[in-house]
Amino acid sequence: MYDVAVIGAGVVGSHTAGRLAAMGHSVAVVEGKRSLTEPVCCTGIIGRECVTSFAIGEDIIMRWVKGARVFSPSGKPLKLWRPEPQAAIVDRVSLNVSMISRAQGRGAHYEVGTLVRDIEVADDRVRIKAVRGNSPVYLEARAAVIATGFRPGLTERLGLGRTGDFVAGVQAEVSAPGVEDVEVYLGREVAPSFFAWMVPTTSGMGLVGLLSRQTPEVYLRKLLSLLADRGKIASADVEVLHGGISLKPLAKTYGDRLLVVGTAAGQVKPITGGGIYYGLLCANIAAEHLHRALSADNLSARDLAGYQREWKQRLGSELRTGYWARRVYERFSDRQIDRLFDIMESTGILESLLNAKDLSFDWHGGAVSRVISYEVFRKIIGSMKLPARLKDRMPGRE
Ligand SMILES: Cc1cc2nc3c(=O)[nH]c(=O)nc-3n(C[C@H](O)[C@H](O)[C@H](O)COP(=O)(O)OP(=O)(O)OC[C@H]3O[C@@H](n4cnc5c(N)ncnc54)[C@H](O)[C@@H]3O)c2cc1C
Repeated sequence: MYDVAVIGAGVVGSHTAGRLAAMGHSVAVVEGKRSLTEPVCCTGIIGRECVTSFAIGEDIIMRWVKGARVFSPSGKPLKLWRPEPQAAIVDRVSLNVSMISRAQGRGAHYEVGTLVRDIEVADDRVRIKAVRGNSPVYLEARAAVIATGFRPGLTERLGLGRTGDFVAGVQAEVSAPGVEDVEVYLGREVAPSFFAWMVPTTSGMGLVGLLSRQTPEVYLRKLLSLLADRGKIASADVEVLHGGISLKPLAKTYGDRLLVVGTAAGQVKPITGGGIYYGLLCANIAAEHLHRALSADNLSARDLAGYQREWKQRLGSELRTGYWARRVYERFSDRQIDRLFDIMESTGILESLLNAKDLSFDWHGGAVSRVISYEVFRKIIGSMKLPARLKDRMPGRE
């Protein structure tokens, strides 16, 4: 019997496995995919803080970026640029592979091509029921960590619920020889309520993707055709990958002998959908709590509840403010977004935001509070027909 079974060999699952293995626990990682180098539907943009905190190797960083050119619905560009590199674009498969190598180097064992169907929680262990091909696979451990990304099946079956809100993401790799900067596109015609992007990766290549609650691939195909017509990408005839992003955390991220981490737990920035950094931060917290619980052999839900308390203490206010901003943004019309662009530029608000020391790629709460501290924004938001739950929860009013 293993000490811990981690379900899911994504970046968060493998990091959790590596930490626990380094603490001396026997760890099995169970991954449904047949190959650990299958493409991942993710752009791989992570902030400098994430690169440093998790010692992400230079060899997997394809380039550093100082900012992005954001296009309003009518096509006005806003240059969000800072003098220093703000984020790295990493090769997403290599990021997974590097976390897997670290975990394996510390002794974690991988069961690949093994899809977990169910977890039975007994008094002294968990029983993992999985399939590999057509054959059943059984595995036992003292505790399980669910790191299954956007796949609500297991957490729901275990009575931990579903993430409160989510969005679909789509992305394609394109040949984009002339593209050197990150571009973000806004507007109902492009990606209703969310945004689309084009990101340069290795020389001449890039990623085009978007988030949308409805028919994301239809919007992406339209955007790809437009970019091809404008000569920005070589061809619109490309393969599209699909993924899901939780926008609100799972109500319960622990249970008897169970912890949930990463996108499976909804540990994701609600404004951008970025989940790598927050997932890794919570993986550290999960590993610490599980280590203490395993050492004391106290693995009840009560003993593990501290995990949720601690990660919510670290991220809770960010997630709440980010989700508030996301829901308000979703209610802006295209005209209002264009007007906000004008205001940001003409009043100097943009410049002061970009110069603010606390503006961070990873922590958005400060920027949201700063933006809505401007009278002009408070007036716009005040004039909108927002449901009471959004009006009442405007940051600064709580
Ligand atoms: C289009 C798109 C773009 C994105 N871009 C960014 C970005 O630029 N930056 C950023 O920070 N985040 C981004 N994200 C979000 C990011 O991809 C996720 O937050 C991150 O991958 C979460 O990692 P994870 O390990 O929690 O889950 P995942 O990476 O999804 O890994 C979960 C693993 O569990 C496995 N699994 C699932 N169910 C089972 C099962 N029952 N049995 C066995 N194995 C199972 C899966 O096969 C998978 O390998 C993006 C997401 C999308 C959709």
